[in-house]
Amino acid sequence: MRIKDVYAGGRFGLSIEVFPPKTAEGDDSLRQTLAEMVPFRPAFVSCTYGAGGSTSKRTVEWCREIQEKFKTSATAHFTCVGSTREQLTEWLHYAWAEGLRNIMALRGDAPAGQASFQAIEGGLRYANELVSLIRESFPEMGIGVAGYPEKHPEAPNLDVDFENLVRKVRNGADAIFTQLFFDNDSFFRFRDRLNRAHINVPLIPGIMPITEFARIQRITAMCGAGIPADLTSRLEAVKEDKQAQHEIGVEFAIAQCRELIDQGVNGIHFYILNKSQAGREILNGLGFSCPSSQ
Ligand SMILES: Cc1cc2nc3c(=O)[nH]c(=O)nc-3n(C[C@H](O)[C@H](O)[C@H](O)COP(=O)(O)OP(=O)(O)OC[C@H]3O[C@@H](n4cnc5c(N)ncnc54)[C@H](O)[C@@H]3O)c2cc1C
Repeated sequence: MRIKDVYAGGRFGLSIEVFPPKTAEGDDSLRQTLAEMVPFRPAFVSCTYGAGGSTSKRTVEWCREIQEKFKTSATAHFTCVGSTREQLTEWLHYAWAEGLRNIMALRGDAPAGQASFQAIEGGLRYANELVSLIRESFPEMGIGVAGYPEKHPEAPNLDVDFENLVRKVRNGADAIFTQLFFDNDSFFRFRDRLNRAHINVPLIPGIMPITEFARIQRITAMCGAGIPADLTSRLEAVKEDKQAQHEIGVEFAIAQCRELIDQGVNGIHFYILNKSQAGREILNGLGFSCPSSQ
C-alpha cells in the first residue's frame, strides 16, 4: 500500500522501522522479529538506508523480502549521501523494478570523518531536492519525509527548520514521520504549527521504546531528542537493572502512545531496532489485536 493510501480518510496506520543487519545471525533474528510483529498488521514496514549508502542494495533486498515473504508493504529509506543525481535516479529505477512503491526520502548525515554534510559534485544538498527528483521521475511513488518536533540538530532554530520541512511537503511528500521524542507537548506544538500553515499531510509520531538507558542516552545525544527529567530520574534509579529499565520504558511508551492516539494521531511509527519484545508489549498494552497470540 502506498503511503498516501495508508492514512486516507483518516485511517490509522501502524508502521515499524527496521535496519538491514550486518551478519547472517542478525538476518535470522530480524526474520524472527518480523514474524512476531507482522501479526499486528502494520500498514508497512520501513527499512533504513545505511550511512553513506552502505546498505543501498540490502535495503531493497530486505524490502522485497518483507513484501514477498511477510506479505506486508515495505518502505525503503533512501538518502542523498555520496550519490550523484544520476546514481540516485538509477537506484530509484532499481527499487521500482523490485516492486517498491514507497520511499522515505532523506538527506542523510555526513559520512564518518566529515564534520558536516556536503553534497558531492552532481549530488543533492537537501531532502527537498530528493523529494522533487522522486516526484518528477516516479509520480506514483509514495513519499515519506522526516520531521523534527524538537528541531533538527543542525538547524539554527525551529522557524528555519519548519520552513525547510514545508518545502519537502510542497515538493510532494505524502506524510511526515517524526524523529523519536518523549515529550508529547513538543509533538502537539509541532502539529499545531503545521495546521496553522495549512500543511495537511499526515504527521506520524516516531516512537522508540526505551529498553536500555545507556543506549537511549547515546541515541538521544546524537539526534537531539530530550528525555523528560522525571523519566531520567526513574531510569537513573535503576541504572544497574536492565529488566527494570525495560519495564519503565514499556510503561512510558504505552502511556505516551495512548495520549497520542487519544489526541487523534493518524498513526504511530515504531523504531523497534530489530527487536520485537518491547514493541509487542506496547502494542498489547494499547490493545492492538494480534491474531496469532490470542
Ligand atoms: C523517520 C526518519 C528516518 C530516518 N532514516 C534514516 C536512514 O534510513 N538513513 C540515514 O542515514 N538517516 C536516516 N534518518 C536521519 C536523517 O538522515 C538525519 O536526521 C539527517 O541529518 C537529516 O535528514 P533530513 O532528510 O531530515 O534532511 P533535510 O530535510 O535536508 O534537513 C537537513 C538540515 O538541512 C536544513 N535544510 C533542509 N532544507 C534546506 C534548504 N533548502 N536550505 C537550507 N537548509 C535546509 C534543515 O533545516 C536541517 O537542519 C532518519 C530520520 C528520520 C526522522
